[in-house]
Amino acid sequence: MNNDHISVWQKCLKTIKKNIHAQGFKTWFEPIKPVALNGNVLTIQVPNKFFYEWLEENYVALLRMTIRQELGDKARLDYQILVSKKANHAPPVAPGIVNNGQKNKKKMFDTGIAADQIKNPFVIPGIKRLRIDSQLNPSYVFDNFIEGDCNRLARSAGMAVAKKPGGTAFNPLFIFGKVGLGKTHLAQAIGNDVKMKSPNKTILYVSSEKFTNQLIESLRNNEINDFVNFYQLIDVLIIDDIQFLSNKQKTQDIFFHIFNQLHQNGKQLILTSDRPPKDLEGVEERLISRFKWGLSADLQAPDFETRMAIVESKMSREGVVMSNEVTEFISYNIKNNIRELEGVLISLIAQSSLNKRDIDIGLAKEVIKNFVAEISKEVTVEFIQEMVAEHYELKVENLKGKTRKRSIVIARQLCMYLAKNMTNKSLKVIGDNFGGRDHSTVIYSCKAVSDLLDTDMVFKDTVQILEKKIKMSMHN
Ligand code: ADP
Ligand code: MG
Repeated sequence: MNNDHISVWQKCLKTIKKNIHAQGFKTWFEPIKPVALNGNVLTIQVPNKFFYEWLEENYVALLRMTIRQELGDKARLDYQILVSKKANHAPPVAPGIVNNGQKNKKKMFDTGIAADQIKNPFVIPGIKRLRIDSQLNPSYVFDNFIEGDCNRLARSAGMAVAKKPGGTAFNPLFIFGKVGLGKTHLAQAIGNDVKMKSPNKTILYVSSEKFTNQLIESLRNNEINDFVNFYQLIDVLIIDDIQFLSNKQKTQDIFFHIFNQLHQNGKQLILTSDRPPKDLEGVEERLISRFKWGLSADLQAPDFETRMAIVESKMSREGVVMSNEVTEFISYNIKNNIRELEGVLISLIAQSSLNKRDIDIGLAKEVIKNFVAEISKEVTVEFIQEMVAEHYELKVENLKGKTRKRSIVIARQLCMYLAKNMTNKSLKVIGDNFGGRDHSTVIYSCKAVSDLLDTDMVFKDTVQILEKKIKMSMHN
């Protein structure tokens, strides 16, 4: 059996490859060179110290297991660190040469930055205005970011920031909210707005993941200074989904440094996260405290009216005509996630054009079935209470409670009226649902509402709207 270092390492690689991600294998194992085998000690060469630390930190168990498999229980791994010939700082490169593109092929971080840009912007001293591709998606703009109660603060803070990046108290602007509620859209809308209004500003949108990967890559190549310098050139830095930095100590350290530099120099930071700063676990306190320096604004699930507006806006952009009834039906049933709402619309458009069908309630129902587990069926007293409470901006407890405040009394009576007309629950059961009121109270309430309906047109409108809203959820 040929037990030289090369064949042993080849066999190790085979095992390793089976056990890890292709990308990880490529990044961390392909560059390794086996150099010697002395008894049960295999020596491998790694490009630099960081590389060694990374392997030890992340792959030690796998390496141990693999090498023991090949060389027995006493097997050991020795590292040889290749001394980099390159100085830590790449020498400054004259702009002329840089613009020659091909000639200066020092690697840019993998941001997908287009080829016609300067290859290595961070080593050019004295040049401020660089063409760094912002990585923004031009379709995320304020114009198509529908405003509603759910996003008003964040949206207007975003607009203020776009007007005066770095010049408001909203620095950083920290946008948080659950998935699919518009964090990326809003953050990018700010970037796009700045780009339009201040073409001289350097804007960069980057996901936390990409940021982390670039950083690891630069550490690996001894280019961390370049990395930091590059980020210092940015006027408006947008980092998306910052929660992914959690438990990444090294990345957080470097980000902290970049954050401070930018902030001190009056540059704008926009961060998004799926939770507020205080709930970020595995993120250093000093970073969290900085996140709180500016403004934290949340995006909440859109209310019915906002969902309607979003559906209408998207459909009209697509040039699709849809009846109000269908718009309402969709807006009722898709509640928590705007991305899902868009998914439904796209499917609807596809279905209708493929099958040459009009978009009607029937088609909408079929499509929505693929998105939500259950289309609301039966109207319940609870549901009516929720709808009425939402409409009057009250809490459901108020409806069940004893308050005699007129506005609450009317809402409560209306609930009982709707419950009697729209469910098949007995007066007793309905009364029970309102903090144990008896059936005569329910009768009295229904009568009071009927009387009011005859005299108060505004109230009548309200009741009709509510009835319609509730009925929509029964379409099934
Ligand atoms: P997040 O980043 O919070 O997960 P996104 O920004 O990706 O969410 O939004 C999901 C989808 O919903 C996107 O296609 C976005 O354009 C759309 N969207 C979100 N909020 C709005 C809004 N207020 N008006 C119109 N579209 C929106
Ligand atoms: Mg996002």
